[in-house]
Amino acid sequence: MAKIIDGKALAQKVKDELKVKVSEFEKENGRKIALAVILVGENPASKVYVNNKIKSTEYVGMKSLSFHLPESSTQEEVSDLVKTLASDSTVDGILVQLPLPKHLNENKILSLIPAEKDVDGFLAENVGNLMLGMPCTVACTPFGVLKMLKSEGVELSGKNAVVIGRSNIVGKPMAMLLLKENCTVTICHSKTSNLKEICSNADVLVAAIGRPKFVTADMVKDGAVVIDVGINRTENGLVGDVDFDAVKEKASLISPVPGGVGPMTIAMLLENTYLCATRKK
Ligand code: NAD
Repeated sequence: MAKIIDGKALAQKVKDELKVKVSEFEKENGRKIALAVILVGENPASKVYVNNKIKSTEYVGMKSLSFHLPESSTQEEVSDLVKTLASDSTVDGILVQLPLPKHLNENKILSLIPAEKDVDGFLAENVGNLMLGMPCTVACTPFGVLKMLKSEGVELSGKNAVVIGRSNIVGKPMAMLLLKENCTVTICHSKTSNLKEICSNADVLVAAIGRPKFVTADMVKDGAVVIDVGINRTENGLVGDVDFDAVKEKASLISPVPGGVGPMTIAMLLENTYLCATRKK
């Protein structure tokens, strides 16, 4: 039976450690670290995410600048706001909550965020620097997964790591981080033909698919470390991409949903904001 990772407690620890560092920054610089969050429209899930981000930002002692623009906002209106925040030296991080309403060009808006304020780590410059092994901001979710693995003392070097999912925000950066830790990394996706065989060879398995209970026990090696990134809303509440009850009997370490990667993602957003503020100095 696997040890279950307490993502909530770990995220709390990250936030409490940040609180101290954030207050030291304020003493040294005579101002608070500030994170600007832009929400356009009324997407209910986005509203929940943004509220959680604002609460956590304030919890660690950062200033939260929150902008809620109407659904009907034009490309120019959203762009102007991003540009204003981009040129404000007291704003350390800018986050545009995705998805944006369909009539807006997401890429064009994101590209207005300077790389040094890109707390989500989505911009080409940060993604490219991650690939090159240069200093960069790493996307919060994979950054949180890595922090989780390290905090649990998982030995990564030389291990077979399998990432299911190849999205720009989770799968690809996750694979790159595991590669940097000297794992032998395989990325699987919707067109992978022998998924079960590949997964059952994984010492570390990260599922970022978006399909409830997709990873079943027969896909998991005895003693594997299994990290579930998935968040799926079902009739029975939130479930991950892993069939938790069955897989926990086989794995040595497993992250639950909820209470696993989700809380870590927000903690790492704050960590990224702190890193952006201190790199700028
Ligand atoms: P996405 O839809 O962009 O990517 C899903 C990936 O899964 C794709 O690369 C696709 O190739 C792969 N996939 C789909 N069906 C597959 C199949 N049958 N076999 C193998 N691979 C398959 O999603 P995403 O943004 O990467 O998010 C993935 C999941 O993680 C979602 O449930 C999302 O809600 C969740 N998520 C959680 C957090 C968090 O903080 N915990 C953050 C981001 C995303």
